[in-house]
Amino acid sequence: MTENNHIHKIVIVGGGASGLELATRLGQKLGKKQLAEITLIDATATHVWKPLLHEVAAGTLDESEQVEYLAQAYRSHFRFRLGRMEGLNRAKKEIYVAPTLNDKGEELIPGRTFHYDTLVMAIGSVSNSFNIKGVAEHCLFLDSTMQAF
Ligand SMILES: Cc1cc2nc3c(=O)[nH]c(=O)nc-3n(C[C@H](O)[C@H](O)[C@H](O)COP(=O)(O)OP(=O)(O)OC[C@H]3O[C@@H](n4cnc5c(N)ncnc54)[C@H](O)[C@@H]3O)c2cc1C
Repeated sequence: MTENNHIHKIVIVGGGASGLELATRLGQKLGKKQLAEITLIDATATHVWKPLLHEVAAGTLDESEQVEYLAQAYRSHFRFRLGRMEGLNRAKKEIYVAPTLNDKGEELIPGRTFHYDTLVMAIGSVSNSFNIKGVAEHCLFLDSTMQAF
């Protein structure tokens, strides 16, 4: 908290191995004492540690291995917001999150703007085909839960 009662806003984009750990630790250290407002944004509602994606693919993943972001946020004193970041304005310190749609393309959550004082980008990476002929067309990639299904 600064002199003018402005609470420092930390926005973390990406709740993977690093972002979720960071949000949890910062929530417990700063969020709990209201020394900062921690917001985690992820494109999905649950976290599955990527090395377990083969278990998702095989249908053997134990449900307890999934982390519901909302529940974790409640337990660990940070906020969770569902949505995919699609833009950033560093001058205004704003990030832009796309509308969230259902399977039919209907809008469930409108697009939103989040202001930050500190921004952490933790959006991970995806497999690279290195433009090797045939790879993109014929390989099964395993970077996300949806791909594992
Ligand atoms: C199949 C597989 C097996 C692996 N096995 C191992 C292993 O055995 N040991 C090991 O050490 N490492 C392993 N890794 C690597 C390890 O999973 C990664 O190094 C680690 O997950 C990287 O963490 P991260 O937080 O950087 O990103 P990630 O864990 O990839 O998380 C990124 C998060 O960002 C979110 N996101 C992405 N873009 C956006 C956006 N625009 N807006 C909002 N949210 C977004 C995603 O939904 C995701 O939750 C494996 C990876 C894969 C794919």
